[in-house]
Amino acid sequence: MNDLSEILNGRELSRQDIVRLLSPLNKREHCQILEKGYEVKENAIGRKTYLRGLIEFSNFCRKDCLYCGIRCGNIKAGRYSMSDDEILQCVELASRNRINGVVLQSGEMVNSYFIKRVSSIIKRIRKVTNDEFRVTLSLGEQSPETYREWFDAGAQRYLLRIETSSEELYRRIHPDDELHRYELRLKCLEKIKETGYQTGTGVMIGLPFQTVENLADDLLFIKRMDIDMVGMGPYVEHFDTPLYGYKDLLLPIMDRFDLSVRMIAVLRIMMPFINIASAAALEALVPMGREFGLKAGANVLMPNLTPVIYRKQYLLYENKPYIDIETEEVLESLDRRINMIGEEIAYDDYGDSKHFRMRKHIKQYQ
Ligand code: SAH
Repeated sequence: MNDLSEILNGRELSRQDIVRLLSPLNKREHCQILEKGYEVKENAIGRKTYLRGLIEFSNFCRKDCLYCGIRCGNIKAGRYSMSDDEILQCVELASRNRINGVVLQSGEMVNSYFIKRVSSIIKRIRKVTNDEFRVTLSLGEQSPETYREWFDAGAQRYLLRIETSSEELYRRIHPDDELHRYELRLKCLEKIKETGYQTGTGVMIGLPFQTVENLADDLLFIKRMDIDMVGMGPYVEHFDTPLYGYKDLLLPIMDRFDLSVRMIAVLRIMMPFINIASAAALEALVPMGREFGLKAGANVLMPNLTPVIYRKQYLLYENKPYIDIETEEVLESLDRRINMIGEEIAYDDYGDSKHFRMRKHIKQYQ
């Protein structure tokens, strides 16, 4: 037994333990953590991967986040918005492939036309799928009324990454104005949970100025907030963003990748029953990156269903994977890729967060 085994097989991880697990280690120790993450996933969830189809339906955005390629200040980004019918065609494609849930993601828009439109799309999706479907939203910061309206329309899950739980770091990677306040983002996340959604958050890993202590605090934040689903992945630079100016501060690609999968493993150890997505950004750094994420303890994959003509324009970061591969082709190879790592795709399964169900169950008896 080394001291790492003691930490991994001991009681609840302390902040100090987490910092130790995320700090530079040798290859053997690194693998030991990933194996533990996978073991915990196997026991809690099984060797299963749940799928959700990602639909990036618009890149119009009112925000100006310093790291993101579709920030409103990036005038080089061509803007698009898919039609309702195009969105529904993606839903059909998902259903045909036995994927019974989608994630609707877009830049942040809050005008009343957008809000009504999203409500109507959610209702149409419910109708064409006879309610046998899950809709996840990833549409940024909205008013409590809007979160309620979309929940009532039939969306069951909401993803809002906190990006970083450090208020100081948050300030460094966002413009200093009323639209980009840490406090507001946090309030929104709380509101989402209160509304009744399966609640998801996450962070970017390997940001300039970010420390291992920041990342340990991110994991503790996720635990403290009793989150149901997490999507976190490496920060990947984008040429046309202000944060690109700090690219010399970044960890080398392989170190950033290893740190990202290690974050997944440690979170899985801390929260065995939540859903953890293996982020596409992992694959921007390393081929088959998402499979490594699954082997570290992630259990959700979000194949991109956005039509190829739009995919290039939804460029949050460089080197976006599958940018010009037709969806059908990606889905065809998915089975083989997942089987190859000893996992099985849970087709026809909603794959609701077990953590969410347990949370609701406990509440019922309080
Ligand atoms: N507008 C919505 C969702 C779209 S952005 C929202 O604000 O929630 C989805 C996620 O992409 C963001 O939360 C962010 O974590 C991630 N992202 C943006 N730029 C990135 C970059 N350069 N590298 C890695 N992830 C990035």
